[in-house]
Amino acid sequence: MKTYAIAAIPGDGIGTEVVAAGIEVLVAIAKRDGGFAFKIDHFDWGGEYCKKHGRMMPENGRDQIRKHDAILFGSAGHPDIPDHITLWGLRLAICQPFDQYANVRPTRVLPGITSPLRNVNGGELDWVIVRENSEGEYAGVGGRVHQGSPLEAATDVAMFTRAGVERIMRFAFRLARSRPRKLLTVVTKSNAQRHAMVMWDEIATQIAAEFRDVTWDKMLVDAMTMRMVMRPETIDTVVATNLHADILSDLAAALAGSLGIAPTANLNPERTFPSMFEPIHGSAFDIMGKGVANPIGTFWSAVMMLDHLGEKNAADRLMKAIERVTADKRFHTPDLGGKARTADVTAGVVDAIQGANT
Ligand code: ATP
Repeated sequence: MKTYAIAAIPGDGIGTEVVAAGIEVLVAIAKRDGGFAFKIDHFDWGGEYCKKHGRMMPENGRDQIRKHDAILFGSAGHPDIPDHITLWGLRLAICQPFDQYANVRPTRVLPGITSPLRNVNGGELDWVIVRENSEGEYAGVGGRVHQGSPLEAATDVAMFTRAGVERIMRFAFRLARSRPRKLLTVVTKSNAQRHAMVMWDEIATQIAAEFRDVTWDKMLVDAMTMRMVMRPETIDTVVATNLHADILSDLAAALAGSLGIAPTANLNPERTFPSMFEPIHGSAFDIMGKGVANPIGTFWSAVMMLDHLGEKNAADRLMKAIERVTADKRFHTPDLGGKARTADVTAGVVDAIQGANT
């Protein structure tokens, strides 16, 4: 029997709660499937670890997880540590060296969930946002001089390479082609950002020639926010830069009912390194330790992990189990207006996995 080695990095805040729930569900789905198993290794890296050891993960941390088949990540952050330290010290310290350049973020209104959009019911919103995850505005290029003096200056340079843009465009066109509507929107800001964003547009046009069966259009990022709210049914697959897609996907998550539901995959499509799966939300310290975090975003991330591992039947079965649970309002956590606890939702999904019809 195939055994997948999973590196679990729960991180901080509700990350620890939702990853524990995610592991319960993964173990249940493997048992139900019977064709594969998981070996789960736990890593206590994150803000708490940093307070003890002075860094978010050990110096050889990446070597410890390099050979794993996938990574299940929660969220890292600490009220006492600046966000840019926690982000660059762990999440980006894994994503960038492991070349997880395609960040894929599906958005759907799941059964039983109410979208804040008027006239949108389940099934009418089915998007997948592809975020360039290795360069652009989050390339880390820039600097700060004369700190504290009136002459202080700082730059964050958005860096785009032809190779980086070509590979994310190809990934997005390929993904759009694999979906029924074969529709891609390339998000840009090439009116104001007249160098790199113009190159982004030109490369989109060039790559589009390789995918003549995909219908595509271009949209300025500001106009895109409006289209997501006013004409959501016209959108299918979306590709955008690191910063633009970061913002658009939080909007997408909110439009689909809650940040607690949205999943994401940080993919290294060439499979040279492990890919990483995580809910979109952060550490949510306001609800930490209360047992009310919505674990659905982590469960959906587990579906993406199963898909990536090639376990299509298990992925479909888990998604069905999730949808059966969201359809039942007794399993709605407070972010969805309900009273359920993390443990109730987890037990509900495990039950649904074991049920005859999933
Ligand atoms: P970070 O800085 O780590 O990203 P944050 O608090 O800025 O954290 P989130 O953690 O994403 O951002 O939380 C934003 C809001 O959404 C919070 O009020 C939080 O309680 C709520 N929230 C986020 N995730 C969940 C979840 N899984 N279940 C319930 N509520 C959630």
